[in-house]
Amino acid sequence: MGNNRTIMQYFEWYYPDNCTLWFKLKKDAQNLRNLGINMVWLPPAYKGAGGIHDVGYGVYDLYDLGEFDQKGTVPTKYGLKDQYLEAIDTLHRNDISVLADVVFNQKMGADETEEVIAQEAYMDNRNICASDPYPIVAWSKFNFYGRGNKYSDFKWNWTHFHGIDWDERQRKKAIYKFYGKNWDKDVDTENGNFDYLMGADVDLNNVDVVEELERWGKWYLDYCQLDGFRLDAIKHMREGFFKNWIDKMENSTEKDLYFIGEYWNGNRDVLQNYINNCEKNISLFDVPLHYNLFYASNSNGNYDMRKIFDGTLVQISPENAVTFVDNHDTQYGQSLQSEIQEWFKPLAYALILLRKDGVPCVFFGDYYGRNGENESTIRGKLTNLMQARKLYAYGEQVDYFDDEHVIAWVRQGDKEHKDSGLVAIMSDNAGGSKEINVGPNLANCVLKDITGNMTENVYVDKDGNGIFYCDGGSVSVWVRI
Ligand code: CA
Repeated sequence: MGNNRTIMQYFEWYYPDNCTLWFKLKKDAQNLRNLGINMVWLPPAYKGAGGIHDVGYGVYDLYDLGEFDQKGTVPTKYGLKDQYLEAIDTLHRNDISVLADVVFNQKMGADETEEVIAQEAYMDNRNICASDPYPIVAWSKFNFYGRGNKYSDFKWNWTHFHGIDWDERQRKKAIYKFYGKNWDKDVDTENGNFDYLMGADVDLNNVDVVEELERWGKWYLDYCQLDGFRLDAIKHMREGFFKNWIDKMENSTEKDLYFIGEYWNGNRDVLQNYINNCEKNISLFDVPLHYNLFYASNSNGNYDMRKIFDGTLVQISPENAVTFVDNHDTQYGQSLQSEIQEWFKPLAYALILLRKDGVPCVFFGDYYGRNGENESTIRGKLTNLMQARKLYAYGEQVDYFDDEHVIAWVRQGDKEHKDSGLVAIMSDNAGGSKEINVGPNLANCVLKDITGNMTENVYVDKDGNGIFYCDGGSVSVWVRI
């Protein structure tokens, strides 16, 4: 059984461009282990078009992990290749698995242009062409002069892409679909067809591309001793591609790899279909739950907390849901801006960390601070909740979702984890109390609030009954004293 699985997303959008993240991570490995983290998701580790200013999603060269002088720098935003490898090694020695971020949808920062026949497509309906075919000058040749042929001699040109968003001849921005190419059909249907997201859109029907991305995946897994992948922007890529790629990766190693996909859609049926089509070899981030938490945090205490899990992925696919509160894209000023309000964050984290279902992913920004700041106002509360997950959140779960504004649940504890079991109670409104039965393991015990919000103890009688309470807009988590 072991301890609960807990992931940390080890970056935020506004982390300083100072090439120090891998160094920080190595120093931090022991602390992460103590916090109960047993898996980290690291940012894209390869050279982006923006050099050290690239968060990593503007992929230039998948093989340049901070090793070659390309895009004006040897290190990436996060550091040098050897520092990356050292950090991974240190994590492994602390029993922490490593998930690497895989960005296959687009490439950016091509080395040279070439003339390509293309047709403009409408921005809001990419199925419809907005012009006749005509020649454009596209930035679509990737030669990797700084790397040469080390690790791979594959060079990219327009035939490996569906389209691009810039004509250098007219200096005009539009969606240009390369003539003779079609957007993939099995992608998200937003904007008619959401195959195109940005940059040079990778053509995943091109056999040479498919083979190169498999070659790269196997190289990356082996070279960096990875334990799995976080797959970026999968709703913009044909569905069959990753099913196949995941199989290839799993067959190339003895390890039991872990895959998490980012499919940004608030409709859980869409997410569940994707999981089923991948034969459940993939977990997806629970985007609908993120939005429930977001709305609850913005409802001024008027959210019906009994419904907080309604419509979520974790409710119907508990084995394949990765629950989270915020990430680098939901941060202020980013594409999916929807940050959970500060007051609600402890409640939100209790809802992902202390439940039986789903694998929670803690956001770097909530622990270390967002916007490049080196502190988080909720770090203390978050630390307590992570400790509660690590030590106490085991055993049967009994819900008390019986009041609009005060909900609670019990984890009854198990034999494997000494003194485990807890009661979580929270309110988005005025606070309150409930009589709760904690089950046999915690009967006849004195419980304290590990969050420190409540200072008096609760005495549970021999039948397991006690009265538990919490403040307004707050969560309390009761564990054995
Ligand atoms: Ca695409």
